[in-house]
Amino acid sequence: MSYLSNRVAGFGTTIFTEMTALAREHNAVNLGQGFPDFPAPDFIKEAAAKAISADINQYAPLPGSPRLRQAIADKTKRLYGREVDPNTQVQIVNGATEAIYATIQGVVNPGDEVIMFEPYYDSYVPCTTMAGGIPRYYTLRAPDWHIDRDELAKLFNDKTKLLIINTPHNPIGKVYTREELQMIADLCIEHDVLVMADEVYEHIVFDDAEHVQIASLPGMEERTITVSSIGKSFSVTGWKIGWTVTTPELNKAVFKAHQFIAFAVASPLQEASADALFHAEESDYYPWLAKMYQDKRDYLLSALNDAGFKTLTPQGAYYILLDISEMGRGNDVDFCRYLTKEVGVAAIPPSAFYSNPADGATIARLTFCKTDEMLAAAAERLQTLK
Ligand code: PMP
Ligand code: GLN
Repeated sequence: MSYLSNRVAGFGTTIFTEMTALAREHNAVNLGQGFPDFPAPDFIKEAAAKAISADINQYAPLPGSPRLRQAIADKTKRLYGREVDPNTQVQIVNGATEAIYATIQGVVNPGDEVIMFEPYYDSYVPCTTMAGGIPRYYTLRAPDWHIDRDELAKLFNDKTKLLIINTPHNPIGKVYTREELQMIADLCIEHDVLVMADEVYEHIVFDDAEHVQIASLPGMEERTITVSSIGKSFSVTGWKIGWTVTTPELNKAVFKAHQFIAFAVASPLQEASADALFHAEESDYYPWLAKMYQDKRDYLLSALNDAGFKTLTPQGAYYILLDISEMGRGNDVDFCRYLTKEVGVAAIPPSAFYSNPADGATIARLTFCKTDEMLAAAAERLQTLK
């Protein structure tokens, strides 16, 4: 008899862990798991060292550091024009990962349906099922990832409690337009459905794409839980400082779940995150970040195209999808294993992000959140496929 609960028995190891281990084993350039391999900015590291030295080392308040909540409220006002009360509308959690879990635990009852777009970020489905919820999928299809209103409308019914969107989107790089968000918002308002908006890549947008918060659309503030974190924006994915911004009532849902999941979040890293957000408010940090990633995107895109790959150009986040349908190397899992072991470049097979793995079988995900040297090393190895 297995000691594992039914809740977790079916879960495998996440694809990120699996591919990073394979990359290590074969000494491959790891363009799989999305974590920067370059140093975080000095200002955030120095702020953390200072906070530890100043003995900010005991439990943080349950809602999170007041300075960090204030910094998040300030940024929400300046960038998105929304006035939020840092004391009742912001909750600090352990990364966006906990924000997703706590939000779903806080609002989904057994039997409730949760609509999500696939490919989805891998934690949405297990978080939904652990709460007893039922995932319902809208499949986005390449190359334009268009959303058909009627097809989406069919997923709504009287059991629908929550819809999850992720913009800018991992892994497809889609930045939802205002019109698309309005269409989704109209359906959610009509059916009285809540929205969880995962916006961890909010500052990584390219060309003329604009990140719009669905919470800023009329009638949406009262039904949206916006999720973000410090990891991608300041190249500190290991810090796991995340947050939700929502109404005072929905904030209680996240708060009540959070108090028994983690209770509190690393105090000195919260202070340093507050410093980093204040610094970004007073400087051109976010445009700098977007430009830095746009250059890396363009470099990797042209290296991939030179090597003969068909690519899809992302408008945001830090991933590129390859069309591998004509590579003759099997499905995405076979191809990514081959690329890691034989070519020495690790990638992520996107079938892990679909309810029907066949929908992701002809694409592969590469990340460009790596040093220029690493990207050049990957480009050189990819040239051997020509
Ligand atoms: N959502 C998306 C779409 C992500 O790509 C990630 C990546 N790590 C997360 C959530 C989790 O963020 P965090 O590291 O802050 O937990
Ligand atoms: N968000 C990162 C990615 O998509 C890493 C996620 C993880 O390791 N859990 O690659």
